[in-house]
Amino acid sequence: MSDPLVPLIPAGLREVLCQALADAVSYRDPPLECLDCEQRDELCAVCSAGLAHARAYLALGRALGMDTR
Ligand SMILES: [Zn+2]
Repeated sequence: MSDPLVPLIPAGLREVLCQALADAVSYRDPPLECLDCEQRDELCAVCSAGLAHARAYLALGRALGMDTR
């Protein structure tokens, strides 16, 4: 990894940060069932916003060289 941020984070904290990011991603992931989404047959505004957050968290994790799964 060429990212200069990664070596600055101690291994123990990286683990915690990785877990926090993974939790944040799963929290923001659109629900499997959403009546709003079903009615319009596409992601509703709330789910779209959540998905955007989840993707941003994943991108942050990748930028930090973490495997957030
Ligand atoms: Zn929805």
